Amino acid sequence: MKNRDSPRSHENFLQKEKKERELSNADHRLVGQQLDLFSMNEEVGVGLVLWHPSGTVVRRIIRDFWEEEHLKNGYQLVCTPHIAREELWRVSGHVNYYEQNMYIFKKDGERYVVKPMNCPFHIEIYKARPRSYRELPIRYAEWGTVYRYERSGTLQGLLRVRGFTQDDAHIFCTSKQVEPEILRLLDFTRHMLERFGFKEYRVYLSTRDPQHPENYMGSEQDWNQAQSALANALKEKSISYGEMPGGAVFYGPKIDVNVVDAAGREWQCPTIQFDFNLPKRFNITYVGADGKEHQVVMIHRVLLGAIERFFAIMIEHCNGNLPVWLAPIQAVVLPVGPDCLQYAEEVHRKLLNSGIRSELDNSQATVSYKIRQAEIRKIPYMIICGEQEARLRKVSVREHKIGNTGLLTVRELVKKTKGQGIR
Ligand SMILES: [Zn+2]
Repeated sequence: MKNRDSPRSHENFLQKEKKERELSNADHRLVGQQLDLFSMNEEVGVGLVLWHPSGTVVRRIIRDFWEEEHLKNGYQLVCTPHIAREELWRVSGHVNYYEQNMYIFKKDGERYVVKPMNCPFHIEIYKARPRSYRELPIRYAEWGTVYRYERSGTLQGLLRVRGFTQDDAHIFCTSKQVEPEILRLLDFTRHMLERFGFKEYRVYLSTRDPQHPENYMGSEQDWNQAQSALANALKEKSISYGEMPGGAVFYGPKIDVNVVDAAGREWQCPTIQFDFNLPKRFNITYVGADGKEHQVVMIHRVLLGAIERFFAIMIEHCNGNLPVWLAPIQAVVLPVGPDCLQYAEEVHRKLLNSGIRSELDNSQATVSYKIRQAEIRKIPYMIICGEQEARLRKVSVREHKIGNTGLLTVRELVKKTKGQGIR
């Protein structure tokens, strides 16, 4: 908590990131405006995002996919409040270590905090009843929206905002389960990143600074054990990694995964974080096979990071040409003149009924103008319906940035669109 946002290295990292992004010609803010995905304005407040309908479609698809994958991977979904009494954040240590980043308000003489993190809530769910070793590991996952005060100079587009949603999860396990859990997490991380088109990434192991053990919580033995559990998992997966001594936050070592985008830039997204601090502060335990209480080990992890930030990285990575499964509109149906409108409407309806995100362009413009408009909007499929197509009960397909790809029946088109799904 404390170290994450304060050290100079982090500030340098942000500066470097800002500079690199400015060199890019695929600025997500520009693409976001062109494709009507999101906006921000000073009336609402800097660093606060308004998701427009098209952006919300993409967000929902990512979230649905994410939730399904998490359920398949043994996670349970939870939902937690946006505010909590200050006392909770005192127990967690946020009041002491993180107060300058928190939004705090008073009501009926009591102070409340707008959540900057989801962790204490997941811990409270764990603590709602006694836990046996048989139940572990317990994995709670949530798209948790958090608010953190950041200096206005550090804000930039969606990459650094004040209100954002983390694809958060907390794993509660025994110390023996840590290594297998990390192995599972490394596989899961790769699986998720690849689905979003990131094939290349670099891995870093952030350990404590051996020169300054006083800056870290927990015994030397705890640290050595935790650091070697993370390192062993990386070695077992044959993942080469860079070590970052002093890069750990005060409550435990972590693995950071930086994705490499199409322009060769590195972006830190997934983080797998060991924690000695919160299990002690909240006294979270389980009853072991010996009938005694033992302290739980806790792993915090995000795979995409902040959704807003991940969205920006993805937009810049593909220059706004979202893959078919993520495109807000997958197909636009273009009738060639008014005589073909009826057939075009029929095609459009069939596509909608088959779960394809289709739009009908029934404006008076020429087909070539409609095609240009669809290209600007980066819609993957343009479905041309003329007299010949109506007679053959087929459609002519034109693909974004590729051109005409032939005649298909609606059924074949649906199959093709769905086949371009999650790869
Ligand atoms: Zn956490």
